[in-house]
Amino acid sequence: MSGPLYGPPDATRAPRYTGLRTFARCPHLRNPEGVDVAVVGVPFDTATSFRPGARFGPEGIRAGSLLLRPYHPPLRVNVFEHQSVVDWGDLEITPGNAARTMDQIAAGVGELVEAGVTPIVLGGDHSIVLGELRAHAARSGPLGLVLLDAHADVWDSYYGEKLFHGTPFRRAVEEGLLEPERSLLAGMRGSLYDEEDFGKAAELGFEVIGCDELRRLAPAAYGARVREKADDGAVFFSFDIDAVDPAFAPGTGTPEVAGLLPHEALAFIRSLAGMSFTGFDVVEVSPPYDGPGQVTALVAANVAYEFLALSALSGSRSR
Ligand code: MN
Ligand code: MN
Repeated sequence: MSGPLYGPPDATRAPRYTGLRTFARCPHLRNPEGVDVAVVGVPFDTATSFRPGARFGPEGIRAGSLLLRPYHPPLRVNVFEHQSVVDWGDLEITPGNAARTMDQIAAGVGELVEAGVTPIVLGGDHSIVLGELRAHAARSGPLGLVLLDAHADVWDSYYGEKLFHGTPFRRAVEEGLLEPERSLLAGMRGSLYDEEDFGKAAELGFEVIGCDELRRLAPAAYGARVREKADDGAVFFSFDIDAVDPAFAPGTGTPEVAGLLPHEALAFIRSLAGMSFTGFDVVEVSPPYDGPGQVTALVAANVAYEFLALSALSGSRSR
């Protein structure tokens, strides 16, 4: 290894509430040189159908991340020891213009993936994943998708709008960015518009594991299913915070009751240790709807920390 190893300052020298609010207190840097993982904010939320506020998700998650320590006991890895991690800051977006914003995201994330940096994106509503997938697919070809979400996000349009937070994965399939047969969507639950909604993801070729079924699966069985589907090709991991029960993650755009408990969600992510992902995101965190103690942002920050651990263990470092 050569060059700087970016990571948080020593918390025994100054307490963790000192300094600027970057993700996990990592340095803010806009140069991909010597960077393995960049945490990137995408503060766009005007493609939401119900509660807005995810534009403040990146700052909320950053504030929720200050307590994160370097060593991850369950996976036995120091997430900063062998990978250089920075907070890239936020990408430029255009409120009220989803089409333009997708281009801006694709360009911003594209700069990172072209430099061999693994992005961990903090949303933003779920529409932003379309821009991310465009950037990744341009480099890696069509991707497998690992999705944990209360919704499959494969509706065709809302109010005549094709770029909405309930539509990104249908658009991604139409654009040839995803390989549904190498993807697994899990955590889906809640009421639907009609019975036909139930089969929409399957019509596109996606396998769907509903939340009740997911909860009955041992994490190892879930992990084995994902690996079997992903089949060694490039894979992207998207985590909608509404996969978690609103008792623990109330600050989100479209809450659905009877979701995953935080420890269940983290266990499913950890079951993928050893897999290599081209990129990650955690989306739909809306701090204005969060509860006392900012619990949603805290869960989201820890989801991003699990992504850091997966990246550290993947052996896919570019340096
Ligand atoms: Mn979603
Ligand atoms: Mn959702």
